[in-house]
Amino acid sequence: MQRLVIVSNRVPPPSGVAAGGLGTCILDALQDHDAVWFGWNGDLVSTESEITSACARYDRLTQITMPLTERDYREHYLGFCNAALWPVHHCRLDLARFAPGCIEGYRRVNLRFAKEVMSRLRPDDLIWVQDYHLIPLGSNLRALGARNRLGFFLHIPFPPPEVLLAVPEHLWLLNALCSYDVVGFQTNADRQNFFRFACGHLDGEPMSGNTLRIAGRIVTAVICPAGIDTHSFSEMAKSRRAAAEIERLRRVGEPLINIIGVDRLDYTKGLPERLRSFRRLLELYPQNRKATTLMQIAPPSREDVQAYAQIRQELEGLCGEINGQHGDVDWTPVRYICRNVAREALAALYRGSQVGLVTPLRDGMNLVAKEYVIAQDEEDPGVLVLSRFAGAAEDLREALIVNPYDLDEVAHAIQRAITMPREERIERHQALAVRVRERDAHNWMAEFLCALDIDRAPALSFELA
Ligand code: ADP
Repeated sequence: MQRLVIVSNRVPPPSGVAAGGLGTCILDALQDHDAVWFGWNGDLVSTESEITSACARYDRLTQITMPLTERDYREHYLGFCNAALWPVHHCRLDLARFAPGCIEGYRRVNLRFAKEVMSRLRPDDLIWVQDYHLIPLGSNLRALGARNRLGFFLHIPFPPPEVLLAVPEHLWLLNALCSYDVVGFQTNADRQNFFRFACGHLDGEPMSGNTLRIAGRIVTAVICPAGIDTHSFSEMAKSRRAAAEIERLRRVGEPLINIIGVDRLDYTKGLPERLRSFRRLLELYPQNRKATTLMQIAPPSREDVQAYAQIRQELEGLCGEINGQHGDVDWTPVRYICRNVAREALAALYRGSQVGLVTPLRDGMNLVAKEYVIAQDEEDPGVLVLSRFAGAAEDLREALIVNPYDLDEVAHAIQRAITMPREERIERHQALAVRVRERDAHNWMAEFLCALDIDRAPALSFELA
């Protein structure tokens, strides 16, 4: 049987908590495939000679993982991926750092991963590389002799070309991206930006539909919005355990209205702006005092990058400020939880919250928005307040769409959500739930693989999105 070979930076454990959209989406979608998943196991060793790969099997999934060296971690993971590519792709050039040597680390790790994949590859394997950590992996595999179909999915935004030009090695990077047969994007806006870059800076020539001729090759660019496993998530949210958890929270908690935010602690998520908007809500609509709480769950991530340590400090300062200014002996306005929460508990928290506040400044997709929708009680659903800068906003139009930079606009939207009549909430929720189900994790994978696997699905059009 044809195998699907996935390569991503990290490989999450097959069950349990995965605080990150990529891991969540792939794990949810993989249930129907024979797959081999390559990636970093999260460990660090001192020298390259200590690197050995390990293989673990779980039903239809085989995971092959290896450590990075401390130098790889510094140069590749922190230096190039998270201090250069991540801020550039999220349009934060002010936070981008292009430290000397880091790009070599990025090249080195990509080549090592490619050699590891190559050593275990079968001729008919389909290869699907994930995300910005591994853009040059495909061209490395080609150089090492792989003739397999090669796909790549970008989970983060593709920025406007004029922003991407800030990366010193942008031409090398984008040429490498074009060595894949199929490149997938979260949104139409991302694909348009890719086309603009390829045609404006790489001599790409648009062909029919979503294909591009570039350096004598054809690249297909598809839009496949990442999704969640809606069935299992809604089962979790409806379970007796979830109901008991919601009941318990109602007993211990003071507020009548709960607003929930769930994010990795990242400067792209707009967390300080969100807290300031909540403070504006308390000022503009004082009836919410002692009646409304914002529960913000934000486990720290990438703490070795300076910008992440700063955002954590800012957030903690703001929580203290708002609670000190507005709180009372019998009411804590902001409950800030700085750790991972089991998915079942998360589902219960979403369901027990009247407002889901998802306000990133820029986000490839944002699966939390989809999880919030699916976790709701259909008879009495909560309202999603969603940033126009989340990829999810392209599909989830029945949410209350906001500009996260406009604190008053967000405060008014929260108030509208809190006071929205039940009929309107049901109507909006029904429309949102249909869209989230249509674009679930299984469809995400199926649509991409359909474009990648032309031999198995010759009759299917490439015009998938
Ligand atoms: P990103 O990939 O940028 O982190 P997404 O919203 O797309 O953002 O995906 C985040 C995923 O991580 C979701 O599945 C969410 O449920 C999960 N997650 C985020 N924070 C937590 C947390 N504190 N505990 C458990 N899971 C979390």
